[in-house]
Amino acid sequence: MAQRPEHILGTDQLGKLIEALVHKGYEVIGPRLRDGAIVYDNLESVEDLPAGWTDEQEPGRYRLKRREDLALFGYAVGPQSWKKYTHPADVRLWSAERQGGTFRILNNESKPKHPYAFVGARACELAAIAVQDRVLLEDKYRDPIYHQRREGAFVIAVQCTQAAAPCFCASMGTGPQVSDGFDLVLTELLGPKGHRFLVAAGSDRGAEMLTELDAGPATEEDHQDAAARVEAAARQQVRSIDTTGIKELLYENFDHPRWDNVASRCLTCANCTMVCPTCFCTSVEDVTDITGNHAERWRRWDSCFTQSFSYIHGGSVRTSAKARYRQWMTHKLASWIDQFGSSGCVGCGRCITWCPVGIDITEEVRAIREGGKNGNP
Ligand code: SF4
Ligand code: SF4
Repeated sequence: MAQRPEHILGTDQLGKLIEALVHKGYEVIGPRLRDGAIVYDNLESVEDLPAGWTDEQEPGRYRLKRREDLALFGYAVGPQSWKKYTHPADVRLWSAERQGGTFRILNNESKPKHPYAFVGARACELAAIAVQDRVLLEDKYRDPIYHQRREGAFVIAVQCTQAAAPCFCASMGTGPQVSDGFDLVLTELLGPKGHRFLVAAGSDRGAEMLTELDAGPATEEDHQDAAARVEAAARQQVRSIDTTGIKELLYENFDHPRWDNVASRCLTCANCTMVCPTCFCTSVEDVTDITGNHAERWRRWDSCFTQSFSYIHGGSVRTSAKARYRQWMTHKLASWIDQFGSSGCVGCGRCITWCPVGIDITEEVRAIREGGKNGNP
């Protein structure tokens, strides 16, 4: 990508940016506080952003905490990812009504009324969007629902300036530095010069938007300040995966005793797949009303952690927790590479935080690499 000049925005101008996106007809989505978490929801103004809040995360633990400043993006990632919008959890594929001896298919438009504008996408999340683009848009069969929702989306990325304990994007090569896949990218700067954002465009429409905001010029000092903050986020990461030969490692350790060890802890609750920004599996469900005159077909997120997911002609292929955890991790980190040419994991750490028993994918890989009885060297 060609280097574009960087500018400085104040919080007022960030507010104007949100208003301009609404005015241009986008449905603006970004981080908001709700139910004790930072989730993605509709934004109407800069006031909706989680000013002064951060998240504390550990395996199986998530808490919001007040910051000492009023940072708007001073958290890592919450339980939701952008797939909530691009690949929603429930979509009605069609509905039909009985009419006499026949039936009529009703209008089943699932396209959003307005294109989305995503505010606050992190580097790992852009990498996850790229992974889902590859799977749902660029493979042999294009998913029309994903296409309608992804098409035209305006992406405002935000550089991470702090990492949560479960983050390991640096080792996966997906962050914390945003490098591609955005229209605008912001780095939040808080300090003696006030509350400001270094902003750069990543597309022509991003550059055009900047011209409407009366953004001031950035100095070399601003640039260095921003770069130092992103480097600090990389240094803060305490978790990592050594990806060297990971495909072969997992393929060659199908019978490793660590799979029994993790299976004894795994509840097969499927949380890890629900929060994962790259997991895309769905199943189809038909429902009728009590009169039998109205029928609907729904597509819903499914998970390889359920027994029914691998049910074929009279039985489940993966009946044990061991088989299901092994399938999930081997797909994420090994067979995904054969299928789609990249890892299925972007190192966001959500599966670690939101696992009720704190199972940690980085620890499981390490245990398999290091070997030993029951994975305990
Ligand atoms: S496997 Fe875990 S760390 Fe990797 S992308 Fe999915 S949720 Fe994030
Ligand atoms: S690894 Fe954790 S989150 Fe995933 S299914 Fe098992 S218990 Fe649930």
